[in-house]
Amino acid sequence: MSSSFAELGLLPALVRALGERGYTTPTPIQTQAIPAVLEGRDLLAAAQTGTGKTAGFTLPLLQRIAQIDFGRQNGKAKIRVLILTPTRELAAQVEESVRHYGKYVDVKSMVMFGGVNINPQKEKLNRRVDILVATPGRLLDHVGQKTIDLSGIDTLVLDEADRMLDMGFIRDIRRILPLLPADRQNLLFSATFSDEIKTLAAGILNNPLEIEVARRNTPAELVTQRVHPVDRDKKRPLLERLIRDGDWHQVLVFTRTKHGANRLAEQLDKSGISALPIHGNKSQSARERALREFKDGSLRVLVATDIAARGIDIDGLPHVVNYELPNTPEDYVHRIGRTGRAGASGEAVSLVCVDEFKLLADIEKLMKRRLEQVVLPGFEPDLSVAPEPLRKAREPRPPRQKPAGGNARGGAGGGKPGGRSEGPAKQPQPKPRPKAGSGPKPAGSPEANGNRSGNRGGGQPGGGNGGGGNSKRGNSGHRDGSRRPGGSGGRAG
Ligand code: AMP
Repeated sequence: MSSSFAELGLLPALVRALGERGYTTPTPIQTQAIPAVLEGRDLLAAAQTGTGKTAGFTLPLLQRIAQIDFGRQNGKAKIRVLILTPTRELAAQVEESVRHYGKYVDVKSMVMFGGVNINPQKEKLNRRVDILVATPGRLLDHVGQKTIDLSGIDTLVLDEADRMLDMGFIRDIRRILPLLPADRQNLLFSATFSDEIKTLAAGILNNPLEIEVARRNTPAELVTQRVHPVDRDKKRPLLERLIRDGDWHQVLVFTRTKHGANRLAEQLDKSGISALPIHGNKSQSARERALREFKDGSLRVLVATDIAARGIDIDGLPHVVNYELPNTPEDYVHRIGRTGRAGASGEAVSLVCVDEFKLLADIEKLMKRRLEQVVLPGFEPDLSVAPEPLRKAREPRPPRQKPAGGNARGGAGGGKPGGRSEGPAKQPQPKPRPKAGSGPKPAGSPEANGNRSGNRGGGQPGGGNGGGGNSKRGNSGHRDGSRRPGGSGGRAG
């Protein structure tokens, strides 16, 4: 294992920028990914946020662009790297990383997502852009308006590919693939590997290097997790108590729906605990403001939905609260991964009412452990309460239909990735049936039976069918490892 970034072959200019951020030792995924990407290889990486994956691909891609300047001088440069992400927050953070790490090299980057006016993006596209970080919907808006040229793409990165499929972006991805040169490098990052992801990967990747890394901050180890069983109508007072008594000052709270996030933030704020919601129905500026104030410590509580929180990366965030458990256990892992980042310890607390015991059981199954349950005095759950169906937190994304202009709603257009899949649709869910008996402390233990209510993936639009389609690069078997930085020789000029 290489012990420094320089030993991995990175340029001094990149190593210097890393040093300024305090990064001296590559994480395991960086150690494996950086040399492979520098070589031009395809990559299939099983890695979640928290592993350092972003630097794992941005650093070598910056280097490849910095080293080869393909006619930039005569103004004919085309976009060389396309990074697709599921959400605007993630897109913004990835592009921020590109700028930070690329501080001392001559590489220009741009981020593009929906929900904001498209015109400034068009203007920016008239200037040089080497690395484009985009959400699929808005990218297609530009394609539709012929304001973008993807014919120079040398590397495609699909970041959080599983989430993109979950959010119904498969069709958009399939529309984008044929617009790219067939001979290109492809990097696919995904936390999970469903059949759909495997199919997509098989259709895109060419003899990829497969990397699998455990989370650097394994939640089970670094994040203290605790469940407070509580009645559904006592959650808010309990949360207020926890925040006040614990003197918590930076708390990321998760709700299942946008509406729930709004309501909770408003109520907390009224009770004197400063709070703002962040979700897909908020304007970009409202989201940015909330995040900024939360990061700088002037906002005590940020109430987020899963999708909006995707990619939120706050150094040293001490507290995550699951005000409501997510439908899918993987989301729980993502949520608690917002704390305990980069090796710091953190605390994740879940307020669980009788309706959620089945969800808790699913989480414990995934984590392969029981979570400690603590009933707090004054908040003992009423064990005679019957569970109620949960509101559905996720909706598969409807097919995209219109080439959105700069509409704030984002419409079906992935323009607004955060904006669609969290709707508080009132579809009834299978009733969770807690079964008394073997479970831990409070009655109606989370040891439930029946089906998971948060069926994931199964019915995704465009799901399940072959990812291959038109996405092939053709038989470029020669590419394996033989493609030097700069790739396909004569093309990109
Ligand atoms: P990511 O998995 O890309 O979301 O990164 C997780 C966090 O680790 C981010 O806050 C990065 O800035 C940070 N990070 C990435 N690489 C390193 C490194 N080599 N040393 C320390 N921190 C890092």
